[in-house]
Amino acid sequence: MRTRRSALAAIAGAASLALTLTACGQSGEGGSKEEKGSGKGGTIGIAMPTKSSERWIADGNNVVKNLQAKGYKTKLVFGEDDPDQQVSQIENLITQGVKALIVAAIDNKSLNNVLQQAKDADIPVIAYDRLILGTPNVDYYASFDNEKVGELQANYIVDKLGLKSGKGPFNIELFAGSNDDNNTKYFFNGAMTVLKPYIADKKLVVRSGQTQLNQVTTLRWDGATAQRRMDDILTKSYKSEKVDAVLSPYDGISIGILSALKSDNYGSANKPLPVVTGQDAELASVKSIIAGDQTQTVYKDLRELAKVAANMVDAVLNDKKPEVNDTKTYDNGSKVVPAYLLEPVSVDKTNYEKVLVGGGFYTAGQLK
Ligand code: BGC
Repeated sequence: MRTRRSALAAIAGAASLALTLTACGQSGEGGSKEEKGSGKGGTIGIAMPTKSSERWIADGNNVVKNLQAKGYKTKLVFGEDDPDQQVSQIENLITQGVKALIVAAIDNKSLNNVLQQAKDADIPVIAYDRLILGTPNVDYYASFDNEKVGELQANYIVDKLGLKSGKGPFNIELFAGSNDDNNTKYFFNGAMTVLKPYIADKKLVVRSGQTQLNQVTTLRWDGATAQRRMDDILTKSYKSEKVDAVLSPYDGISIGILSALKSDNYGSANKPLPVVTGQDAELASVKSIIAGDQTQTVYKDLRELAKVAANMVDAVLNDKKPEVNDTKTYDNGSKVVPAYLLEPVSVDKTNYEKVLVGGGFYTAGQLK
């Protein structure tokens, strides 16, 4: 069902949104005197999930920078991976009179009540990187092509093992992200579309037998949790066999997996490390790739994502229609949320310099 807000948001030049926002403008920030383009000078609330991963710290800083350059004030909060904390942080932002919210959810289903409060205060909401589910009160979604992330990881494994030229069979283990993050299933499904035919042909063998999403998720993307699971798999299923590849959805998880492998003597001359994928091109993992431990990561240019989200806010607050490039994929259970999706890029030892250093994401010095 289309809601009033989404209908409004979908129409370029819908005049009433800004008026409503202005009417609800908070005292101390220009209040009802603000005119068209009323968001300028107002405060935008940004709720990020955690500081435990460097990507979200960068995201927070990038979004702040982009909004400030457009004349907004910002309030940035981090939820420390605690869904309840994130809810109360967003409640506070609403009370403080933010003009719009940018939210990267911790638990995609925990925000319905607080987003109803946002709606009641006519505060538009942009879902940042992670779609928020089960509520009509999310206006736009800024992210990457999440299915492609999984495809890039799986295709990397296929190429590296030489599966297309008939090599195999190889042993593989599968890891997925947090079950409360909507991206998890997109990453996993994207990867499994590529891997399934090889698993069916027994060219790839999952010795643990754990191939279903609900068997391979990693709560809150926690590296230590992944390490424990990998330890357990190696003990139970690889007494006399070796694992050749591990599908890992995120660099922090890859680090945990690599620790478990090294504890089991992988990385020695007669027991080489398997192909291990990742995501986010976090500094420690890029260094690990250079050192020959982790094999691949998926780079997502967070600077671009922040720009997209800031532009969306600016457009909505100025009665303009934000630029979107996907109006079909991201059904949150309540509506299809119009999205702008950026392209992820596979990075390994052969192209990290060109992509990451050449693209200005890291300096050569940072990678030493
Ligand atoms: C993001 C990934 C990130 C993961 C863990 C996902 O929602 O899309 O980039 O690796 O969360 O933080």
